[in-house]
Amino acid sequence: MIKYSKQRELILNTVKENRVHPTADFVYNKLKEENPGLSLGTVYRNLNLLAEEGIIQKIRIPNGPDRFDGEVKEHPHMTCTCCGKVIDLPLTCMEDMRQLDEEILKKTGHQVNSLQTAFTGVCGACRASKN
Ligand SMILES: [Zn+2]
Ligand SMILES: [Zn+2]
Repeated sequence: MIKYSKQRELILNTVKENRVHPTADFVYNKLKEENPGLSLGTVYRNLNLLAEEGIIQKIRIPNGPDRFDGEVKEHPHMTCTCCGKVIDLPLTCMEDMRQLDEEILKKTGHQVNSLQTAFTGVCGACRASKN
């Protein structure tokens, strides 16, 4: 039990400390050297549990592995098609999305309760290096 919660804490800290929206693989590779007993399956299981409990956020990326976010406040993400980075977009974009919910309700009568935003694009750094 003690071992379990220690692993959980390590995994949680790794997600919180790495603001790159790490995958399970990323977390595992960060921790495995100092924690040889740790398996990728354990990392994956703990990440999913933490996400279910709302302690971290699970982000589904089209055509890619799930990523995890230490910031649980709802915010939109964009995947760069150039470098594959998952970037946080400002929250104001989310407020605009809320208006979309209202529009959908008005037009269709369906109530949207949650929204998984998956923008794709080219990030600022990749755009700069192309110019
Ligand atoms: Zn990029
Ligand atoms: Zn994020």
